[in-house]
Amino acid sequence: MTSRDLAHYETRNAICEYGRSLLEDDLTTGTGGNLSARLDDDLVAISPSGVPYDDVTPADVPVVKTDGTVVEGEVEPSTELPMHLAVYESRPDVGGVVHTHSPYATTFASLGEPIPASHYLISFTGTEVPVAEYRTHATAELGEAAVESLGEEFNATLLRNHGVLTADESLSDAYTVALMVEYCARIHHQAKAIGDPEILPDDEIDRLSDKLDAYGQ
Ligand code: 13P
Ligand code: ZN
Repeated sequence: MTSRDLAHYETRNAICEYGRSLLEDDLTTGTGGNLSARLDDDLVAISPSGVPYDDVTPADVPVVKTDGTVVEGEVEPSTELPMHLAVYESRPDVGGVVHTHSPYATTFASLGEPIPASHYLISFTGTEVPVAEYRTHATAELGEAAVESLGEEFNATLLRNHGVLTADESLSDAYTVALMVEYCARIHHQAKAIGDPEILPDDEIDRLSDKLDAYGQ
């Protein structure tokens, strides 16, 4: 096995493991949601469509070219492949993309309301989590709406009446952002249920983002 084959295997295995985590962390139900990671400049590994996360093996994980052609894997890629590829094309900084239907964040997506900075951990995503315009799932138009909402500055967007999309340097980072989005949505919902949460100003969030970059050992 060449080092390139080994790297591909590890990434496809990570798609399997983070897929199972989506269920364990209550970020999705059934076969909802999908994940992908950039392998090389022109290749992406993405979860297969409609396969229970517990059943997916690394060999099942499709490897696709950035034009959508499948080069490895016997199972059809996620129906949201056009959305994932649109994000990689517009954001060269992105190495991993996660799409969830996590319940608190999706509640705000159904209301068409961004998640504001009522908790400092929103700084994982930007100054807020914006909302992309509604487009039918599994279409190129949904990808365009998501890319427009993410812009250059956000690591996450809500997909109106559907769910959440996160994008970051790696699959592992994008997964962490998906957890943070759901946590912030839950806290914001709870805070609004019993009071009127104060929203942190944008300049504080910018300061926090710098601190987060330096956090950890
Ligand atoms: P796939 O199983 O095709 O990835 O679709 C799940 C989903 O969340 C569609 O938006
Ligand atoms: Zn979905």
